[in-house]
Amino acid sequence: MALVTTPATILKTYQDSETSKILRLLTLDRGLCSVVAKGARRPRSRFGGLLEPFTDGVVTYYAKEGRDLHTLSEFELGRERQSLGRQLVRYAGAGLVTEITLRFAPATGDEGLFRRLRAALDRLVEESGDLEAAILEETWQLIACLGFAPGIDVCAACGERPEPGETIHFDFAAGSSLCVRCHRLHPQLGLRELSRRAREELEMLIQARSGGGRLKTGREQRALLSEFMTYHLTDDRPLKSFRFLEDRLG
Ligand SMILES: [Zn+2]
Repeated sequence: MALVTTPATILKTYQDSETSKILRLLTLDRGLCSVVAKGARRPRSRFGGLLEPFTDGVVTYYAKEGRDLHTLSEFELGRERQSLGRQLVRYAGAGLVTEITLRFAPATGDEGLFRRLRAALDRLVEESGDLEAAILEETWQLIACLGFAPGIDVCAACGERPEPGETIHFDFAAGSSLCVRCHRLHPQLGLRELSRRAREELEMLIQARSGGGRLKTGREQRALLSEFMTYHLTDDRPLKSFRFLEDRLG
């Protein structure tokens, strides 16, 4: 058994037994990993109340080669984000970015992804502008880090940039889009037509330019993101946190 020490963010926790908890972590050095925190549910546990979702710290654990579940030794608190639990929309957003991370992050270290997730959670704590825009923007940034970023700035067929007032046809499966002319020449089923305004706002979210301003096409943006994620999920389990977010935003 090797002792591993690495910065980590707690994505999710489960009750394991009367006294133990399992933590799903994104770690800097080893990507996704699971550890059991023995005794963490005891009233006077040495972990105190630290082991909660959305908390940053440095973990030390005993890594068992060839196993998925390791044993936590130490957790040194970095930043807790308990305030997310006091505001349901912020909490729902944090749930979405951590669930996507849990579903798609690799089990190898990825510094860009690690920093992106922490930045997203920090923003969800601190955002003073429009929360819907912040959540969608952070989710698209995370998706880009995971390697699924959609291309909507140029047409996938002719390579031209659509005119400012033009609609585009978005291909969820390919993660790309067609201009009106190419779509007319080669009509394809299953593409979604995006209005000028929806295209502009999607581009703004993907490029992280919303600046906390309120979206005019918020509902459409959520539907787009949901459909995009559905196409890129590796199995048929829908994202639970997305439904929770939808219920909060109405
Ligand atoms: Zn084209």
